[in-house]
This record gives sequence, structure tokens and C-alpha cells, in this order.
Amino acid sequence: MNLETDSLAPVIGKRMALVKQLNKSLKCESSQMIHPSIQDQFGRTFNYLRLALNEQCNLRCMYCMPEEGINFRSEEKLLSTNEIFQLFYLTSKMGVSKIRLTGGEPLLRKDLVPIIQFANSLDGVESIHLTTNGLLLLKYIHELESAGLSGINISLDTLESNKYKTITRRDGLISVLDGLDKAIKSSIRSIKLNVVAMRDFNDDELMDFVALTKENDITVRFIELMPFDSHQIWKTGKFYGADHIVEDIMNQVDELSPIGGSRTEHHVFQVNDYKGKVAVIPAYSRSLCGECNRFRITADGKLLNCLYSQDETNLRDAMRIGKTDIEIEDMIRNTMKKKYKDGWEAQNQGNDNRESMTQIGG
Ligand code: SAM
Ligand code: SF4
Repeated sequence: MNLETDSLAPVIGKRMALVKQLNKSLKCESSQMIHPSIQDQFGRTFNYLRLALNEQCNLRCMYCMPEEGINFRSEEKLLSTNEIFQLFYLTSKMGVSKIRLTGGEPLLRKDLVPIIQFANSLDGVESIHLTTNGLLLLKYIHELESAGLSGINISLDTLESNKYKTITRRDGLISVLDGLDKAIKSSIRSIKLNVVAMRDFNDDELMDFVALTKENDITVRFIELMPFDSHQIWKTGKFYGADHIVEDIMNQVDELSPIGGSRTEHHVFQVNDYKGKVAVIPAYSRSLCGECNRFRITADGKLLNCLYSQDETNLRDAMRIGKTDIEIEDMIRNTMKKKYKDGWEAQNQGNDNRESMTQIGG
């Protein structure tokens, strides 16, 4: 993935120089006046962009994708490096301060490092995060560190290798654990573990995950299963609600103190004297929509104002037919203005035909 030397380097260099120039000239004016922040009718402000870099993946998690994969879009339908740069540039001017790169598996995208470097060069962008299955982390951790990545969320649902094979349909637990270890030892400041909690699958492992926070300053996040899979694992009774997860943790750990976390981390705890934290994310229960500050762009450049939204705004085609930056900014603002009060309302607007979370990025 070392792209410093490959054919993209001149394009990236040129674009970065342009951005530096633009940043400089815009500083002379009131950038807030020219580029108002992104808000909706309920007064929520959106400063957190989650971008899926691809749809392809080297795992086949049962709740995400069928064994044969999904109908992956061809490369030319996905956002190009330059289109990603343009969207980062525009949204940073509109107040985006946090960017998350997801997928598919983002470590499979060859231009990941320059994308991080570019995001880092933008005024206003304070942190760049990655969500990954961790399989390739060991290989790329140094490049990610040097590119200025602020945080990594590693998705790992079990610490047992036979169960890992069952849920991901692939081998690789050792590689993920090695990657996690390297990430913890790196200078990347925020390391989180995403665990999709499932009944009769990993509900007996909660304490093993909590134990990882004893010596490591990481956050272990138990996430509710969501109904985004064409094979509907969702319907097999594996759902394990946030309230039950919290109850189970509280029943098993005595010295647990509630503490603050990020906007989506509903219940955040720390076991006394442990270095890390434990959080529970009500991804399906959707009890935190009032706090939402995020929007999503799919790998093929569609803007979603909610994870559960059925409506998409095609930013890729807008860029490809030469719409101006101002016109694209207006498209983003108008789409976000129409955001529903919560994910339940968004979901009720029509039939969900998404095959997989890999198309949205989680
Ligand atoms: N491949 C990367 C990974 O797994 O971290 C990034 C993309 S993946 C779609 C992003 C997140 O979505 C992962 O943490 C994954 O566990 C989660 N996810 C996928 N399908 C899900 C589902 N049906 N319910 C809950 N979480 C899901
Ligand atoms: Fe791949 Fe992530 Fe989906 Fe698992 S959850 S199949 S790792 S995209």
C-alpha cells in the first residue's frame, strides 16, 4: 500500500497543494459565513462524516454478507481518490471535524494512506478514524500511524478461534489479535474493539472481553445486532438488546463505575482500577438519535442522512457531471435538513432492499 512512489503520487501532491492554497485564502474570509454548518430541522449539527471506501471484504461475517459475497459494484462505480478528496474538502469547509473510513474492508483499498494524509491536511479536520476487521492491521499499522490516523475500531466478535471461523467464515483470529496488540502499542491514540453481541454465540464471552480492558487502555464496545443482512441472521433469535447486555455485565462485575463516552455509547463503564472502558451501543434500539451528529457516504458516493434511511443523494454523479462545489454543498445541506427525527421514522419510509452492511459501512 506504499503509495508515495506509485502513479497516484503526482495527482495527490497537486491536490494537496491546491488545498493548502485554498485553505490559506479562505482563512482571510469568514469561512463560517461562506460555508454554513450542516444542520437539520431539529437543530442537530452534523460534523462527523463516515465514508465507506469499498464494498469488497476479506471476511464473510454471517450477519453482514453471504458466503458468495454480494453484487459488488465495479471499481469505476466507486468514488475515485480525487472524488473522495473533493468531498473531504467540501465537507471540512462545512464544519466536518471527524472522519471515519470504513467499508467493506478499508485496508483493501490501495489509496488508503494518501486518503488519510489528505484528510489530515485539511483545516478543521481534527481526527481521522478507521473501522476495520483487523486482518491486515499488522501489515499496515506503521503506515497508518505515520499518515496521522487518530483512531482504529477493530471488529472482533469472539476470542475463540473455532467461533471466529463460524462467524466470519474464514480463519484469522491470530492475525487480528496480533494487529490489535500492535495497534495498542502504536502512537494511535484511540483503540476500540467492536463486538456485535449475539445470543447463544458470544453472550458467554462478555467477561473475557471486559478482561481485555484491565491492562489495555482500549474501549470494548458491545453493539446490538442490526437487521442488515440478506440472509436474515437477524431473524434467528440472536438479537441481544443493550439493556440485557448492561444487565448481564452488571451482574457479573461488582466494581463497575458509570463514566462518560462518545455520543453513541449509551452505557459506558470502567471496572475499578482497569485501564480501559466498556461501552454498550444501542444500534438497533436507537435511543440516541437525538444526539446524532453523523452522516454517511457509501462507497459509490451516495449520501445517507441516517443509517436506516432508504433515500440516497447521488454525490458521485453530481461531481461527474460537473456540478459546482456550491451546488454539491447545497445537495448535502438539503439532504441533511430532511433527516427524520429518529431511525425508526427513517426505516418506516419504505422497504429496505439493502443486501449488506458492507454497502453502508456500519
Ligand atoms: N469490514 C470492516 C469491519 O468489519 O470493521 C468495516 C465495515 S463493517 C460493515 C463495519 C461494522 O459494521 C463492523 O463493526 C461490523 O461488525 C458491523 N456490522 C455489520 N453488519 C452488522 C449487523 N447486521 N449488525 C450489527 N453490526 C453489523
Ligand atoms: Fe467484512 Fe466487516 Fe462485513 Fe465482516 S462486517 S463481512 S469484516 S465488511
